[in-house]
Amino acid sequence: MKNTNFKNYGRDVFSEKEIVKHLPKAVSAKLIATMRESKPLDPTIADAVAEGMKNWALEMGATHFTHWFQPLTGGTAEKHDAFLEPNGPAQAIIRFSGKNLIGGETDASSFPSGGLRSTFEARGYTAWDPTSPAFIKRHENGATLCIPTAFCSFNGETLDMKTPLLRSIQAVSRATERMMKLFGQKKAHVEVTLGAEQEYFLIDRKYYLKRPDLLQTGRTVFGAAPAKHQQLEDHYFGAIKPRILKFMTEVENRLWELGIPAKTRHNEVAPAQFELAPMFEDLNLAVDHNMMIMEVLRQTAERNGLVCLLHEKPFEGVNGSGKHCNWSISYGGRNLLTPGENPRENAIFITLLLAVIRAIEMHADILRMATAGAGNDHRLGANEAPPAIISVFLGDDLNEVLRQIESGSSKSESKRGQKLRIGVDTLPALPRDMTDRNRTSPFTFTGNKFEFRAPGSSQNCAQSQMVLNTIVAESIDALCDKLEKAKGPFNEKLQKLLQYEVKAHKRVIFSGDGYSQSWLKEATQRGLPNLKDTVEALAPLKDKRNVALFEKYGVLSRSEMLSRWEIGMEDYQRRIRIEAGIALEIARSMVLPVVADEFSELATALGQAKSDGLKAGIRGLTALSMKLGAGLDDLHVKCDALEKALSRGMEPPSLIKAMDSLRKTVDRLEGLVADLRWPLPKYREILFVY
Ligand code: ADP
Ligand code: MG
Repeated sequence: MKNTNFKNYGRDVFSEKEIVKHLPKAVSAKLIATMRESKPLDPTIADAVAEGMKNWALEMGATHFTHWFQPLTGGTAEKHDAFLEPNGPAQAIIRFSGKNLIGGETDASSFPSGGLRSTFEARGYTAWDPTSPAFIKRHENGATLCIPTAFCSFNGETLDMKTPLLRSIQAVSRATERMMKLFGQKKAHVEVTLGAEQEYFLIDRKYYLKRPDLLQTGRTVFGAAPAKHQQLEDHYFGAIKPRILKFMTEVENRLWELGIPAKTRHNEVAPAQFELAPMFEDLNLAVDHNMMIMEVLRQTAERNGLVCLLHEKPFEGVNGSGKHCNWSISYGGRNLLTPGENPRENAIFITLLLAVIRAIEMHADILRMATAGAGNDHRLGANEAPPAIISVFLGDDLNEVLRQIESGSSKSESKRGQKLRIGVDTLPALPRDMTDRNRTSPFTFTGNKFEFRAPGSSQNCAQSQMVLNTIVAESIDALCDKLEKAKGPFNEKLQKLLQYEVKAHKRVIFSGDGYSQSWLKEATQRGLPNLKDTVEALAPLKDKRNVALFEKYGVLSRSEMLSRWEIGMEDYQRRIRIEAGIALEIARSMVLPVVADEFSELATALGQAKSDGLKAGIRGLTALSMKLGAGLDDLHVKCDALEKALSRGMEPPSLIKAMDSLRKTVDRLEGLVADLRWPLPKYREILFVY
């Protein structure tokens, strides 16, 4: 590759090329097979692998290694150890053993476990996940070897995002293999794929530092909408400003060095909002890569005097940020969600499609759970897309195909007037391009994959993908069970099954405007769940039916699910309390004094004008001080109310109500108080001035 930006692609990854270079032949062959087949590492080669990996890392300038894992806090975690080991006074050797590589013991007591681990058993274990290659993280003074790992408690219960994700990939892979066997297909490697589009805001650091709310919570708890925000729709896909482009280029160069296939960049709908989309990859790797993308975005922003906001809703009144998770399954390298070349491939496509639809219809609640969180509450179920009701969008062509399948066999007419039978051999050639778009739908078929739009921009995709894999595995298995049990020729059985499944699950399919009030009503009539906030959305973790499902597939145990519920609830409550606390502090210590100053100046001026017997200005001054005085009183009352709610330890709904009410007052005052005096940078500066 000639281009200098491309030539370093994958430089900082212990890739197959480097593995071959640094390991004895037999060992590298075994390791590569392990990686490709997603198998655990053979312990007998661990020492040899560690030796080669260490040599590579030293060449790359690393002094330390760390197990890199994804605790349930939602971020990533690392604990660095130097390669150095003393072997005498003032002497040391460089050491890194197979034991260091395969597993590490970590003090897990400060990571959330939701009651899974008592403090006296504070140990946690990390174990290398060879399906995700080791990589090098760099900083100004050196580098660290990062080993992607799973993280579990002393008793083997999972304390991280990766372990259940890997289990779910296994579950859906097995189910897919079973389905393909039923369809008479040769055994082949199943790969679940993910392409995660990452949305983010970028603002100048100088504003960030003056906003305690952004600093502490990642979102602004105050701020009036500016006259112009996103109404003109002039930002989306607009020309990218040079300062931003410089940032994006730096991000991409770093991502390419890390072997992350960053592909697309563009302005998003809201001012100061952008998107980065990589090419899709193996799901597990794509999840790790998304975590690294978020880190690189944040760090690169800092170097450029910018701040990258990954919060779902940093600014009220403009769009929030999501993470669209594009998901599919491929078999022997062929994407199963692409209509095929022949009737059999099409039948497989339709069967998988219906398995997914069935999964969403039957398990919408637990899929919604996977997107729960304080930040995402501002998107889902608020006055912004996508709605909290999980429905599926298929587009006109596929709707028509399903309608024909449902109405059954030869009597129906297709759109083009041809006779149509749904038996495998007579399934119609599906339209090539089925890329109808509906931006208001949370779960959309986009021609060759499903796009789940509900996950929030800051969330780890592992959560939603783990649920999706599990419910689809269950669904595929259920269809296979029925096919195996039914009697008669395969094509007839399949036709009957598909017809039944369309009928049974079509209520989840919706093509209209997902934001509209009428959909809310219709969805209720259809009996689709509408879990409006984090508390409601987390509840399905405790539902017996869901627990049974996740236990059946060995993805999460009952106690692991309960612990996730507990962690989710705790995280939610803490975040809301922090937001309420910072809102109160800003209102009391920054806004109130300014309003009081201006009011007292006005009042003094008014008194002066009156005593001087001025003819003009009295009316204006009177009106202004009345307005400001009323605002001041209001502010005082609202601050007291929020303080009371906080000190009484009230639940999130009361805190949110008190915060919203305070916000209204503060945002109104923003338009009244002298601009020079206002203590917080305003939206029109933060969102527009670079
Ligand atoms: P959009 O119109 O939604 O922007 P893109 O073509 O940009 O669509 O694709 C969005 C994401 O979907 C990209 O990350 C892309 O790599 C990913 N994608 C494409 N095909 C698949 C697939 N088979 N499985 C998973 N993700 C895919
Ligand atoms: Mg998209």
